[in-house]
Amino acid sequence: MHHAGRIHSLETFGTVDGPGIRFVLFMQGCALQCAYCHNPDSWDTKTGQLRTVDDILAEIEPYVPFYKRSGGGITVTGGEPTLQAPFVAELFEKCKERWGLHTALDSSGFCDPHHAKRLLDATDLVLLDLKMIDRAGHEHLTSQPNDRILAFARHLSDAGIKMWVRRVLVPGWTDGMSELLALGEFIGELRGVDKIEVLPYHRMGVYKWEQLGRAYRLDGVPEPSQGEVERAYRLIEQGMQAATASTSAKTEKAAR
Ligand code: SF4
Repeated sequence: MHHAGRIHSLETFGTVDGPGIRFVLFMQGCALQCAYCHNPDSWDTKTGQLRTVDDILAEIEPYVPFYKRSGGGITVTGGEPTLQAPFVAELFEKCKERWGLHTALDSSGFCDPHHAKRLLDATDLVLLDLKMIDRAGHEHLTSQPNDRILAFARHLSDAGIKMWVRRVLVPGWTDGMSELLALGEFIGELRGVDKIEVLPYHRMGVYKWEQLGRAYRLDGVPEPSQGEVERAYRLIEQGMQAATASTSAKTEKAAR
């Protein structure tokens, strides 16, 4: 079967979305509207360039030795890549078959796991953005509640899929003490989380909001300092320890 996908853009030397040097494919279309999104032009599901899997494979091919030598691979991001799960699944399967490439899916998790089964079977690592644990806060930040996202995270954990959990740190929005502790507690209950990344909010995409004529809701919000980023890591760590302590207390109780 030859699926065509709607593509926003691509990068041949990505170094921030997964291990090593990576081919990064940005898919068009997203169901969320995060206030800090730096690609609001990727939201519309009807635009973008239509490209086949073979087209994309031809783009990847010349760089495969670099990706492999650096311990890298391919990352598909967006937009939201799971909206085009069959296309991404076929691409990942071929990358593995042809070159044994490592595959990473950068997702908001706003996805029904059953819809993405074939895709997840071909995925080595999920970069999962947990934008907010607080449900109302999540809805305010992204336009959607987070139930589906948290369920997706639990599904990955149960299915034994490796994850890097990410949090974009937006001062005054996603960095509250109870929010970060709750994030740590949630992560502490998941299996397969290999890494946690706190990504400082930045304003690089603001001009795109202006070009699209959309009101930017984070005007006046500063980028977090290094100290604030370190504080976030500490609070997440504390939350994780609390979760581990309560799990082992429960296990002990059950064993008695
Ligand atoms: S999920 Fe990603 S692409 Fe979609 S709105 Fe949020 S930041 Fe933007």
